[in-house]
Amino acid sequence: MPSFFKMSLTEVLKTLNVTKAGLTTEEVEERRKQYGYNELAEGKRKGIIQVFIEQFKDFLVIILIIAALISAFLGEIESTIVILVVLILNAILGTVQHMKAEASLNSLKSLSAPNAKVLRDGQIIEIPSREVVVGDILSLDAGDFVSADGRIIENHSLQVNESSLTGESLSVLKDEEPIQQNEVPIADKKNMVFSGSYVTYGRAVVAVTNIGMDTEIGKIANLLESAQEKKTPLQASLDEFGKKLALLIIGIAILIFALDMWRGHDLVDSFMFAVALAVAAIPEALSSIVTIVLAFGTQKMAKENAIVRKLHAVESLGSISVICSDKTGTLTQNKMTVQKVYVDHQVLEHGELKMDNPLEKRMVLMCLLCNDAVTIENKEIGDPTEVALVNFGEEHHYDELIMREKYVRIDELPFDSNRKLMSTVNQYEGKHLMFTKGAVDVLLSRVEYIETSEGIRRFTEKDHEEIEGINQNFSKNGLRVLAFAYKEMEMDHSVSLEDEYGLTFVGLTAMMDPPREESHEAVAACIGAGIKPVMITGDHKITASAIARQIGILKDDSEAVEGMEIEKWSDEMLKERVADLSVYARVSPEHKIRIVKAWQEKGNVVAMTGDGVNDGPALKQADIGVAMGITGTEVAKEASSMVLTDDNFSTIVKAISNGRSIYANIQNSIKFLLSGNTGAVLTVLYASFFALPVPFVAVHLLFINLLTDSLPAIAIGLEPYNKKIMKEKPRDIHEPLLNKAFAGRVLFEGILIAISTLIAFSIGLSTSDHMVASTMAFATLCLARLLHGFNSRSNQSLFKIGVFSNQFIWYAFIIGIVLLHLVLLVPGLQGIFEIAVLSPSELGSIYALAFMPLIVIQVYRVIFVKNN
Ligand code: ATP
Repeated sequence: MPSFFKMSLTEVLKTLNVTKAGLTTEEVEERRKQYGYNELAEGKRKGIIQVFIEQFKDFLVIILIIAALISAFLGEIESTIVILVVLILNAILGTVQHMKAEASLNSLKSLSAPNAKVLRDGQIIEIPSREVVVGDILSLDAGDFVSADGRIIENHSLQVNESSLTGESLSVLKDEEPIQQNEVPIADKKNMVFSGSYVTYGRAVVAVTNIGMDTEIGKIANLLESAQEKKTPLQASLDEFGKKLALLIIGIAILIFALDMWRGHDLVDSFMFAVALAVAAIPEALSSIVTIVLAFGTQKMAKENAIVRKLHAVESLGSISVICSDKTGTLTQNKMTVQKVYVDHQVLEHGELKMDNPLEKRMVLMCLLCNDAVTIENKEIGDPTEVALVNFGEEHHYDELIMREKYVRIDELPFDSNRKLMSTVNQYEGKHLMFTKGAVDVLLSRVEYIETSEGIRRFTEKDHEEIEGINQNFSKNGLRVLAFAYKEMEMDHSVSLEDEYGLTFVGLTAMMDPPREESHEAVAACIGAGIKPVMITGDHKITASAIARQIGILKDDSEAVEGMEIEKWSDEMLKERVADLSVYARVSPEHKIRIVKAWQEKGNVVAMTGDGVNDGPALKQADIGVAMGITGTEVAKEASSMVLTDDNFSTIVKAISNGRSIYANIQNSIKFLLSGNTGAVLTVLYASFFALPVPFVAVHLLFINLLTDSLPAIAIGLEPYNKKIMKEKPRDIHEPLLNKAFAGRVLFEGILIAISTLIAFSIGLSTSDHMVASTMAFATLCLARLLHGFNSRSNQSLFKIGVFSNQFIWYAFIIGIVLLHLVLLVPGLQGIFEIAVLSPSELGSIYALAFMPLIVIQVYRVIFVKNN
């Protein structure tokens, strides 16, 4: 393996067989064949067979298999076959659901996979990191993840955080000089960058030397965590609940078994029945219902521009009570245009600058030179603030690329949102000039001179006041103001942060960044949903307040505060005031963390947006970190739980409404399963305690629980979203899913189903024999539960939500009805399922009784449920 760190730049490029213009498409193809994809080996995904086999590992299924074996041993071959067939059908259903859910979660993952910027065929393009090949020329900026190991070939103050490799949390300053040693530890390879680290400052161009498992991180990393998602808190708590419930039900089953034996019933029948009762009553599908509903829900969210990176976020979304949002690009359009310019004591319209006036011309040139954005063939590439400056230059017939060739950039200090400044050093009329642009207040505090048409003189208090006045005027109209200054540098001095002082002020630009059209409505929706929207921005307080007022975030100026001010406050004080503040201006990323914490300490669940490299900690601290998909850095995306592919505030609000609905659907689906099971258990318990004959045979309960019950449960999970959900307050995150009101409903609905079933059973017993009675009980229970699926779609009446608004529940219902009638009416199946032939009047009673719970619950809702 060649030691790239020892080589000169020419040697590096020669060894990798690449030029500074990057690889061609053909070369990339060839290298891909040779080295494969740039990815770390992952734990193997489960195949379909393995998933199918795993369906049989469930505790209950094992009991059923034992039961099947016992009945085979005792000569009851028919029961064995029925149990096995039902189990296999159930396993097929489970496998299909699992594979579908996994496929949809995987596609979600690939949507949020990291990207890399590479130079290919002479052009910078963005590609998924896994497509980087050895020899690629990688462009790294602040906030980028380093996607492969590489040797730096061009460096501009690059600083990299390599903690994932070295454990060192401080950033390392890089350079491009060859190292003249043979053995160098990773931490000292200053001219190399390594996969898994990320850029905290500056920029660089790197030639890729190693990819995938050949990188340093590949060598130390074992297999990546397998592709399996960890269980979400909801799944974990449902598992826990399911286990407790299972124990309780097994206790009841043993009791029933003992009672049956005491009454002298047949041992095998009693055993089979106890097993069937346990299977009928234990809702084994709880956690998998959550997976399926989450998988489909997140798919829908992705279509609506919110990509969920961490599944548990979906659960917390419904509890969000505060959204802390960036302004620029999230609440505003990020389509900036320069409106006005202040130079030489006068405010000019954007097109009014005269290029024969040296100062005005310099102002335009500074806009183009202290700038990384480009517009090529009408495509705008770069930070929208800088794109606006490029367009402004073009308005005055200056092309940014031609100017940057004429006034070559020698050095630079990249923009960073803490410093709020950016500088470049350019050759300018035989001198080296440093051009600095940035936030007005920051820049003015570093200015010592001012240039006007009368020449350069000291910057006075009066100048400061005048410029501040202009700045305020611009800002009041929602304009975003940048200040420009310069300084002459010594010829071979390499620029550092200490140089950004003693500047000569030239002028201001004021840009318009109008609010997004949707912002006003989304803010109103938030407020209606009991969610407080808060604007957090690096921009000026007056600009921020003007925009916040336009979109309804701010009502009174007292609700706005600057980062500097809260720096003086203790955490306690911030906590006291936080509820009264809606706009934080001139904030640094560190302030964001304090704001999130203050809200959280007041018991709120907070969503926070972020895009910059320094936003990572605040995004992690928030309950839901939301990264910008278009303008966000890879680091911000990695730290977030959700990524917005359109950078739009209203997408967060939509995601919250989806999160609330998904949660409600999961709750309804579980309520459906539990209430149906309760109906079955109560029927059996009643019959047992009042010494009636056993109402069902084992296969009846297996049939219902394993075949006709799962599809409606899933269909309820797919219930279309109800607008009313955004009129409610956020859900208390500590409120368990299975709360008292929920348990009350389950019991009430379960009792209704049990009453219908018992009436059917008694009619059968009084008018015919036990087999007819048991068939009637089974058919009524099955049908009542299928119809109860319609009840469980919502807590509102069906008329309110629309009888036909969920097509899936109809499909599930029809499939259930067909299956039920197959066993009721087909002679061969009748025998297997121990079904008696029913008379038309018996069938009629079943239908009537099965409708009873549906009718009672709907009438109850129409009369008693508010907001109906
Ligand atoms: P938000 O925080 O709402 O996204 P923002 O773009 O104003 O808004 P930052 O990117 O942190 O936030 O910028 C902070 C300040 O730095 C801006 O208000 C502006 O004054 C200045 N600034 C922004 N972009 C540049 C740039 N490219 N060069 C120099 N200064 C900039």
